[in-house]
Amino acid sequence: MTVDAAPTTARDYDKLYIGGQWVQPHSTQTLEVVSPATGQHSGSTPLADATDVDTAVKSARAAFESGVWRDKTPAERAAVVAKVADLINEREAEIAAVITSEMGASPSTVNMLQVLPATGALRAYAEAAAAYPWTEYRSGLFGQTKVTREPVGVVGAIIAWNVPLFLLANKLGPALTAGCSVVLKPAPETPLCANVIAELFAEAGLPDGVLSIVPGGAETGQALVDHPDVDKITFTGSTAAGRKIAAACGESLKRCSLELGGKSAAIVLEDADINSLAGMLVFAGLMNTGQACVAQTRILLPRSKKEEFTNAIVGVASAMKPGLPDDETAQLGPVITANQRDKIEGYIQAGKDAGATVALEGSRPEGLEGGYYLSPTVFTDVTNDMKIAQEEIFGPVLSIIDYDTEEEAIKIANDSDYGLAGSVWTSDVEHGIEIAAQVRTGTYGVNWYAIDPGSPFGGYKNSGIGRENGREGLESYLEHKSVILPMGYTVEG
Ligand code: NAD
Repeated sequence: MTVDAAPTTARDYDKLYIGGQWVQPHSTQTLEVVSPATGQHSGSTPLADATDVDTAVKSARAAFESGVWRDKTPAERAAVVAKVADLINEREAEIAAVITSEMGASPSTVNMLQVLPATGALRAYAEAAAAYPWTEYRSGLFGQTKVTREPVGVVGAIIAWNVPLFLLANKLGPALTAGCSVVLKPAPETPLCANVIAELFAEAGLPDGVLSIVPGGAETGQALVDHPDVDKITFTGSTAAGRKIAAACGESLKRCSLELGGKSAAIVLEDADINSLAGMLVFAGLMNTGQACVAQTRILLPRSKKEEFTNAIVGVASAMKPGLPDDETAQLGPVITANQRDKIEGYIQAGKDAGATVALEGSRPEGLEGGYYLSPTVFTDVTNDMKIAQEEIFGPVLSIIDYDTEEEAIKIANDSDYGLAGSVWTSDVEHGIEIAAQVRTGTYGVNWYAIDPGSPFGGYKNSGIGRENGREGLESYLEHKSVILPMGYTVEG
């Protein structure tokens, strides 16, 4: 596929997408989007204020109450969601270019980490709807009970910037398949993609009123969380913000699901064929320039193979070249902002101060000064109590921790406030599956790490509450209702 890697035309919106129409915003503020690759203007959109959020929620509520969407059959709703996946594929060059312009990742990275999983997720929700027991009759204590599943209502969806297309697909896909109306707040760094996708939903047949986009920062998100007419908040972002949102939802008893941070451990066993696995292992930690909630940034190595395995890892990481989105020889894009790069450099300093050894030192590459680039850092001699092993860095930094026994490796992997993902690397896949059962995380990989859009994804511990993807993702936007039929009255069976 050929794509326009660095579009010269900025996307500047002067209206908000509310209830299926482009409308004049109440807010007079603008959100400017800057390319992290070049520091140049990529586009802009009005920043939605609390009044705009209120307009969007009212539209969502009116659409919900009218039944225009929720009264369609699950198969009709699923067809619209699956159609959006087709439309994304038809326009993937244009969509990848928009995301590249706001994230700085190359179009091929965007395709691999966002277009493929987003379209996979949308189709998986449509398939889950086809197999889902929307209505069933159970034989109960007194006779038959009709059990139905109904949409939870108006959903406020708030997402992070690191994979905007995948994240919004995992909110809009299940919520709309369930029959909900949605007000989506994209991250302030990456609002453009959401505007583009909203139009695809309209084109696929989503009725007016059902979907609105309210670009903005924490304040806009807070207005959505606090709105009394929102039934459920679905949030993807940091654990710190998730805590505040969960507390606010608890106060008003809104339903709430949270996809939060991670600090995943890759356990490399003694029998791992490191030469064939090192590429995947390093990719699992440095994908998206380390800006992935599931990044396997703690690498646990057996002390007996420390030198050999470390050399292989450093060899791969040092060959990962940062570059502009249209540089086909580059494997790493920029980090999202100058502030984020400063923060990552602060973590690198913290690693040094704590006594970790720098096996590969990252730096700001020459020739890329216009963007927020940082080459990979690999620390060895890290202990699991160090800040770099406990906190999510969200940048290209790997921490190698040694272990003596498998029991110790599992203990280290579990010694984290987070529980999002993990992986094991071994020549004995059966044994790898046994290790997976002992690590408390929501997803796990054997000899690689990937997310399967049809299977549940989410976190244990501080990595979140609830699951996305597939049937479990769909279910989190449904209420279950039991209608107790009169004694002796039988509908089925
Ligand atoms: P963040 O928490 O700062 O922001 C996420 C979103 O929440 C943004 O849209 C932001 O504007 C909004 N927000 C922030 N504070 C809010 C508040 N008090 N009320 C309402 N909205 C608020 O996170 P970030 O830095 O944008 O994203 C990176 C984080 O997201 C990392 O921790 C990463 O692990 C996590 N993440 C998790 C998953 C997952 O599926 N578990 C996926 C992607 C990213």
